[in-house]
Amino acid sequence: MSRRTVSAQAPARAGAGGNGPVAIQVLDVWKSFQAGLDVLRGVSFHVARGELVVIEGPTGAGKSTLFRLMIGAERADAGTVFVNGTEISGGGTPDLAAVRRSMGLMVQGMPLLPALTVADNIALALRAVKAPFHDTRIRVYEMLKAVGMEGRRTAYPPQLSGGETQRVCLARALVTRPPIVLADEPTALLDEVAAREVISTLRATHARGATLLVATHDPGLAGRLGARRVILQAGRVVVAGPVAERA
Ligand code: ADP
Ligand code: MG
Repeated sequence: MSRRTVSAQAPARAGAGGNGPVAIQVLDVWKSFQAGLDVLRGVSFHVARGELVVIEGPTGAGKSTLFRLMIGAERADAGTVFVNGTEISGGGTPDLAAVRRSMGLMVQGMPLLPALTVADNIALALRAVKAPFHDTRIRVYEMLKAVGMEGRRTAYPPQLSGGETQRVCLARALVTRPPIVLADEPTALLDEVAAREVISTLRATHARGATLLVATHDPGLAGRLGARRVILQAGRVVVAGPVAERA
């Protein structure tokens, strides 16, 4: 069957839509959890280094599944995902730890540690990449302030609302200033004021040069971010559009 053909070529350059090096390349990816029910049906797109891309689509379209494939938390049935030229999910044995160190992840399935304060959860992410100690407290505070959570830094995760938890998870993903950031539904549970803070933080992340990939069911978010949109519907890319006008 043709869908089982796997390309093993590591692409060095972006195709249409960019001339720079590719940060993330998804090539004809298929994934099902149940025989006869394909969640991803031949998904292909790329994200150039330094690009801001929104994966947009209704609930159940396969966005979170796609993100799990990109971090090696799930294996594709066919097709390949490259992150910075390393094949992540085609069945090889990549150095996942090294690839993940280059990524800031705000994704499902990575809960905060309940016994540590909000500030200590963020500090732990910095310590994991061996950031200089004298820098830690300032960076933790500034990151929490950026997402509007500095007032909750001594709270414990079980005391937070869903929207607060989301913002702390975003702060944890960004505090190490990783070159690639994946954010899954970063504004889903937020009111307008909090959403505005998160959007401006994501824009600043892109402005400092990070490659940023955001998944959302909100058709308004790509415009507010000034992002290029890749629209996913029923497991297929239906539109890979130009950079959206900022709202
Ligand atoms: P989205 O993030 O776009 O809302 P998901 O990737 O979470 O979509 O889910 C896409 C589809 O895959 C849904 O129908 C979901 O129920 C199914 N799915 C996702 N993960 C699993 C799993 N581990 N086992 C079974 N079905 C799954
Ligand atoms: Mg999802």
